[in-house]
Amino acid sequence: MKNFALIGAAGYIAPRHMKAIKDTGNHLLAAYDPYDGVGIMDSYFPSARFFVEFERFDRYLEKLKYDEKVPLDYISIASPNYLHDAHIRVALRRGADAICEKPLVLNPWNIDALERLSEETGKKINTILQLRLHQTIIDLKKRVEEAPKDKIFDIDLTYITSRGYWYYTSWKGDVTKSGGIATNIGVHFFDMLAWIFGDIQQNTVHIHTHDRAAGFLQLERARVRWFLSINEETLPEAIKAKGQRTYRSITIEGEELEFSAGFTDLHTRSYEEILKGNGYTITDARRAIETVHQIRNQQPVGLKGDYHPFAVK
Ligand code: NAD
Repeated sequence: MKNFALIGAAGYIAPRHMKAIKDTGNHLLAAYDPYDGVGIMDSYFPSARFFVEFERFDRYLEKLKYDEKVPLDYISIASPNYLHDAHIRVALRRGADAICEKPLVLNPWNIDALERLSEETGKKINTILQLRLHQTIIDLKKRVEEAPKDKIFDIDLTYITSRGYWYYTSWKGDVTKSGGIATNIGVHFFDMLAWIFGDIQQNTVHIHTHDRAAGFLQLERARVRWFLSINEETLPEAIKAKGQRTYRSITIEGEELEFSAGFTDLHTRSYEEILKGNGYTITDARRAIETVHQIRNQQPVGLKGDYHPFAVK
């Protein structure tokens, strides 16, 4: 049985980490979050200690290590994106491996610094890239690998996940903290696309505002028009009419790839692989971090060239 601590325990995604730790037969020793709304801990680890001050959390972990000789194997990190690298350092410096939410970091140079520390401490940095564990996506990768090597696929990726006004007040609406929507919402998809279709050869951004982004990616084996949005006004009329607030679509050669199901328990699946030593590493995360960093830092060209049809909305 491995011992865990959790940073960012009061947030939306934290219960999936608690569940994954429990489902894999492991133990949560301690959790930390400056916000104290963590009643959910009763459903998973009522005996875990909880702290709202980092210093007290740190002191408790130190006490476990030196006074009670309890090893800490992993620190799971579900804090805001811009804090991930600092929280990974906390894990590695106290001799634990890290399991960090996406995006691992906001900028490529943060990866370089973490790689150095991982080498120095001999501790591993795992990240959650759960789309790579989705069966439909695994099947698609196989299909592409089995297709003629010179086949270039035409892909349209559309992901609209409506968010209310709260989003702009929270850290998620602050580009310096979340990286903006292409980073915060898109990173899963950019990782998945490059994992299946190969390295990025061209990365053009058509529009990029506070609530939507659209662009074109030329990959080794695909041409991808992509559109991401958190504004419900951009939903297709048929989806709005059904009262749905989320729309996720990937078309390949005009054919819809159905992958709305199969998302439950992918955190637990991620933990299973991490515990077997097969977690996605900092090296696996690098390409998507570079892609979203480029997207964030380039001037959108406007509606020119091969743009996603929703970009005109
Ligand atoms: P959230 O805002 O609901 O939760 C973040 C938590 O971090 C909050 O409870 C907040 O109080 C806490 N926090 C703030 N400052 C902190 C600090 N200095 N130290 C420790 N904790 C601090 O956000 P969320 O949606 O749960 O997202 C958390 C992370 O999970 C983000 O990195 C996000 O990108 C990622 N995420 C991943 C998925 C996925 O599908 N894998 C889905 C949603 C979010």
